[in-house]
Amino acid sequence: MDNVLVTGGAGYIGSHACKALRAAGFNPVTFDSLVTGWEDAVKFGPFERGDLLDRARLDEVFAAYRPVAVMHFAALSQVGESMQIPGKYWLNNAGGSLNLIEAAAAAGCKRFVFSSTCATYGDQDNVVLNEQSAQLPINAYGASKRAIEDMLSDFGASDGIESVIFRYFNVAGADPEGDVGEYHQPETHLIPLILDAIDGKRAALTIFGTDYDTPDGTCIRDYVHVCDLVDAHVLGLKWLAEGKGSRVFNLGTGAGFSVREVMDRAAEVTGKPVPCTEGPRRAGDCTKLVSGSKRAEEELGWRPQRSNLEEMVADAWMWHQSGHYEK
Ligand code: UDP
Repeated sequence: MDNVLVTGGAGYIGSHACKALRAAGFNPVTFDSLVTGWEDAVKFGPFERGDLLDRARLDEVFAAYRPVAVMHFAALSQVGESMQIPGKYWLNNAGGSLNLIEAAAAAGCKRFVFSSTCATYGDQDNVVLNEQSAQLPINAYGASKRAIEDMLSDFGASDGIESVIFRYFNVAGADPEGDVGEYHQPETHLIPLILDAIDGKRAALTIFGTDYDTPDGTCIRDYVHVCDLVDAHVLGLKWLAEGKGSRVFNLGTGAGFSVREVMDRAAEVTGKPVPCTEGPRRAGDCTKLVSGSKRAEEELGWRPQRSNLEEMVADAWMWHQSGHYEK
């Protein structure tokens, strides 16, 4: 069985990716510092604890497993925090990724599937984005991810690294079989916060800004089911194995939902109201981030199965109620 090194495999998206990799016949080797991940989410392959800033540890893991590819999820991902402590994002995301890419190149591991983000596009006047849209990030998180994309391209030219870069829109939902799900500490993402507010774990949801230039005044995002998202990653590996070379793909659904629409849907799915208050805008937030997935569908053959809002909220709610992560 081929090994795939999964950085951030103990996190939300990484743990779902490990499940999909195992189902596709790979051995996912999780490399995770556990700064934001959870060891009990590593269920589908070996676990190697380590920090991307520790080059010696990376070299050790590459030598031990000789992975055929790297799936690189490990990153700090809070937009708001990245505006307050940008250095943390540049060091861990950009610096850590540089170490990882250099370690992979030195070990002769030339295939990368990289977790990038729509935050690299920035705020672009209510357009539907595609892969050619300009990348003009408005927060340090997005800027650090754009820098990693540039690194992969430069190491492609110098060392023959081939990369499939996925720019995600908003990832949501959970494994419908309940093996893994979303748990962040602290939680900052909209859907889990709504569910927490609904069942009284949190006083109320604060809506960050009601004066945006959108029909109901709240921000619009494009939500993708985590299981569909990780399926695309397995297709990305196949793409690289077939020698198709480096490529960027957006992963969205083309449907945008406002914060209020997500709240309404959550109220319907759970049958309970969402306690909420209105607050000011959060620094670094874009008005609208929506993308089609034409390229991923046409070229990779990606077919999202569960990415409708109702199913995403229902799967997240099931996970939420399972009590797995009542830490
Ligand atoms: N949001 C909100 N209240 C919260 C958390 C998020 O109104 O407590 C909004 C946020 O401003 C954004 C959307 O929900 O418009 C999605 O935010 P999230 O942090 O889930 O993802 P992001 O778009 O930042 O990647």
